[in-house]
Amino acid sequence: MTEEELRGLAEQIRAELPALIHDLHERTRVERDLAQALGRPSGTAAEALKATLRSNEAIQERLEDDHDRIVVQAGDPTAALIGVLYICPKQDYSVVREVPTDEVQLCPHDGSVLDRYQG
Ligand SMILES: [Zn+2]
Repeated sequence: MTEEELRGLAEQIRAELPALIHDLHERTRVERDLAQALGRPSGTAAEALKATLRSNEAIQERLEDDHDRIVVQAGDPTAALIGVLYICPKQDYSVVREVPTDEVQLCPHDGSVLDRYQG
């Protein structure tokens, strides 16, 4: 994910914050962190944006629900990694792994074996 894409995602999340985070104190913190990250000069904001998007559970859940836009930890900030998404065949659960795994992953809701999402 490029910095431009992260900025777009952060703007989108910022617009959704009132619906995402009901705790005013936490929402204010996230808004402030997002504004600071977005205010960084071009080319230097990616890590701060990712850190902020990862800092709140509601945002993480929101991003996990959004299969096309997955923010995961990237070792190399210039080559932001997209994680591997595993989805319950019943569509009620998904999880992102930073690296593909051969381990069988089970849905915590119904015990189904999760499918690897191919995009
Ligand atoms: Zn399931």
